Amino acid sequence: MKKSFWSPFLSALTPYTAGEQPQDRRYVKLNTNENPYPPSPKVKEALAAFSVDRLRLYPSPDADLLRDAIAEAEGVSRENVFCGNGSDEVLALCVPAFFKGGRGAAFADITYSFYPVFCDFFSVSYTQVPLKEDYTMDLAGLGKADADGVFFTNPNAPTGIGVGLEETEKFVAENPGKLIVADEAYMGFFGQSALPLTKKYPNLLVVKTFSKYYALAGIRCGYAVGNEALIRGLFAAKDCFNSYPVDALCQAVCAAAVGDKAYYAAAAEKVKSERSRLRAELVRLGFFVPESASNFLFAGHEKGGEFIYRGLKERGVLVRFWNTEKLKKFCRITVGAPEENDALLSALREML
Ligand SMILES: *Cc1c(COP(=O)(O)O)cnc(C)c1O
Repeated sequence: MKKSFWSPFLSALTPYTAGEQPQDRRYVKLNTNENPYPPSPKVKEALAAFSVDRLRLYPSPDADLLRDAIAEAEGVSRENVFCGNGSDEVLALCVPAFFKGGRGAAFADITYSFYPVFCDFFSVSYTQVPLKEDYTMDLAGLGKADADGVFFTNPNAPTGIGVGLEETEKFVAENPGKLIVADEAYMGFFGQSALPLTKKYPNLLVVKTFSKYYALAGIRCGYAVGNEALIRGLFAAKDCFNSYPVDALCQAVCAAAVGDKAYYAAAAEKVKSERSRLRAELVRLGFFVPESASNFLFAGHEKGGEFIYRGLKERGVLVRFWNTEKLKKFCRITVGAPEENDALLSALREML
């Protein structure tokens, strides 16, 4: 018999399943919420100006070049910004930095499915608070949970439903003893960011990513904004794990992107206008689709998510579905460029 070298701890874990990134044929890819439009032209300029010789040296361990660019774009100071290798890494580091050894974390039962994996990986307990009947988040329930903090995904995934700024502020203000980690991966498509509130509330940390709004999923970068004490906590956790998570090329590219507000605002407007068109067409085809504040739609159908997924895949269109009881009617459909959305709609018309 072959001995397994996996630790008993690892053997008992269930890792996160990333969305399919198939390389076998070309699909209309509406399954991982990437931006259908290219990154800013400033990114191309930054790449062309980047000296390969720079790669000989380690990057700044604290990503200072990028932190300064983010601080300027967000109207905060460098001391309020932490960068990581994808916002997944930033969110993961929050668990040992803020929740380990205490009362653990709370989050919705239907939300980003990486949070329970992070908690298990760091042996931190968690409470899952069910969404309300209408699929909105139960903020009162999250506030009452026996936990040191909350992963508050806004807009939520996979529902796409957003919480307005006023309600977010009330939630943060009413829970001064809980750290609210606002995961704003899709906030650019909603425009109700709690980031300015980080100056007023020491219990608020806002996490953003370059993967969706900035169309840079391939570069792997995300960041957190919060008061200095929280940011120092993230640095302490990072320096126990990986001193240089953000490489030099990534810093140059993301710094160029974050400065080009006009370009990205225009791209997001195009996504939002396609979002309304696509939602109306899906409703016409018999789908139940909550109003979305993000760049994807949460679409429920009588025939079930898996049926929709399989039929679409045969026709060259990828979406995401789940096997769980609560989500089995749904699939999550990324809003693509107009011609991609048209391909999705004609495949659905053929199937239904
Ligand atoms: C995509 C996504 C992330 C992760 O983004 P990366 O920066 O690519 O790691 C985090 N949170 C939510 C809710 C997401 O959908």
